[in-house]
Amino acid sequence: MSSWRRDSLRASSSEPLPVIIIGNGPSGICLSYLLSGHIPYVKPGAIHPHPLLQRKLAEAPGVSILDQDLEYLSEGLEGRSQSPVALLFDALLRPDTDFGGSMDSVLSWKRHKERAVPHLVLGRNLPGGAWHSIEGSMVTLSQGQWMSLPDLQVKDWMRKKCRGLRNSRATAGDIAHYYRDYVIKKGLSHNFVSGAVVTAVEQAEAEHGGPEAQAPSPLFQVKGYLTAKDHSHQPFSLWARNVVLATGTFDSPARLGIPGETLPFVHHELAALEAALRAGTVNPHSDPVLIVGAGLSAADAVLFARHYNIQVIHAFRRSVHDPGLVFNQLPKMLYPEYHKVHQMMRDQSILSPSPYEGYRSLPEHRPLLFKEDHQAVFQDPQGGQQLFGVSLVLVLIGSHPNLSYLPRAGADLVIDPDQPLNPKRNPIDVDPFTHESTHQEGLYALGPLAGDNFVRFVQGGALAAASSLLRKETRKPP
Ligand SMILES: Cc1cc2nc3c(=O)[nH]c(=O)nc-3n(C[C@H](O)[C@H](O)[C@H](O)COP(=O)(O)OP(=O)(O)OC[C@H]3O[C@@H](n4cnc5c(N)ncnc54)[C@H](O)[C@@H]3O)c2cc1C
Repeated sequence: MSSWRRDSLRASSSEPLPVIIIGNGPSGICLSYLLSGHIPYVKPGAIHPHPLLQRKLAEAPGVSILDQDLEYLSEGLEGRSQSPVALLFDALLRPDTDFGGSMDSVLSWKRHKERAVPHLVLGRNLPGGAWHSIEGSMVTLSQGQWMSLPDLQVKDWMRKKCRGLRNSRATAGDIAHYYRDYVIKKGLSHNFVSGAVVTAVEQAEAEHGGPEAQAPSPLFQVKGYLTAKDHSHQPFSLWARNVVLATGTFDSPARLGIPGETLPFVHHELAALEAALRAGTVNPHSDPVLIVGAGLSAADAVLFARHYNIQVIHAFRRSVHDPGLVFNQLPKMLYPEYHKVHQMMRDQSILSPSPYEGYRSLPEHRPLLFKEDHQAVFQDPQGGQQLFGVSLVLVLIGSHPNLSYLPRAGADLVIDPDQPLNPKRNPIDVDPFTHESTHQEGLYALGPLAGDNFVRFVQGGALAAASSLLRKETRKPP
């Protein structure tokens, strides 16, 4: 993206930026929008259906949401996020969505250029984050509308592109495209540097002269490299007074940790199956593809393979009746395709051959080893060994956040420092109303890193961080 930004990055700068955002997914994009001086106000005359929230909003007419007390406004809101500001922003953007309504946002947006906070968004890929790594034809789990960022509804964008939602859901490809377009349409491109990988964030040493001496808050050095078209790496080094971690959790696929997992036919991303199909190394006549895992990504892979008539062996550790299986938590009416996969997992087990040609499930099977001659060895529930010839293996058993660019890989920042970072159980410990780390001043965390796993809710973190960063900028001495 922005070529002049890439040039300025190549030169590397010792002048500190107020904010560097690492990660260019929905979290980073939303924060960039807010920091660019887009300020939310309640539309004159708008009535929020939540009576308590409406009463509070009416107390400060004409005062922007970013300048109000987010803790006060969000108090008493309930919903599907643990984060009060996420619930607040979601309620303002989609007032009655949890009641099946489609009321317009009560917010209107005004551009105050003078309030813009200079910032840079660094991202490995194109703006849109994880959405560029998800297979484009996959349909979102969430309603398409819930993937919208402020002031540009997915449904309006789709209409302009002559695209439609499928059963009120969108394809991952459309959503990735929408996020890329959002950055352009909202005039944010100059803040974004794609192909910029951050390798280290360090707090400045005391002896670092110059800017730090005048800065009231800590200084961070952000180092990394830019990937050029010829794949070469050009190092950069920047300084920032605040750093926002928005790198998501999908960059490091979980591994089985068994022998043979690094063999060239063993992969950890669905994209490998697409590539193999394109190259013709996998086709309807080849040995089956082995898909390991019982989550939605594995189900997506099964659906994808079946769409192309590829034979599938589907192995997973749990029993098909395990109530913890994600399929048991999804309403059947809304997710018929996932329930189809669950049904196949149940009906087509190795123990009970049945109607789905080209698909076989191996419940309660533990992979032991992959051999160079494309054999996969499993331990079955009885403790015996089973051997299968496969053309390709896809291990889709989840992913981990990768904070290797932080000291101790961020271990000191999480809620329980004795446990690994986990978006659900042990996220980065942040103040819920600023999203600033409770352990490190000037460091912020958004999205799954801070415990918000849905796009609908990651935006609240951006609102909280923007309100804190705008306040800091206002307080800054001239
Ligand atoms: C298969 C799948 C389906 C999903 N379906 C839904 C759904 O239906 N609804 C929903 O709400 N959510 C869904 N999600 C979750 C959703 O993708 C995330 O909630 C959302 O993308 C999080 O946004 P983010 O900006 O915090 O992080 P991400 O979107 O993960 O973006 C972070 C970006 O930072 C980059 N990055 C990481 N490390 C570095 C580094 N060191 N330097 C530079 N860049 C770096 C990453 O490459 C990535 O591009 C799904 C996720 C997956 C994987």
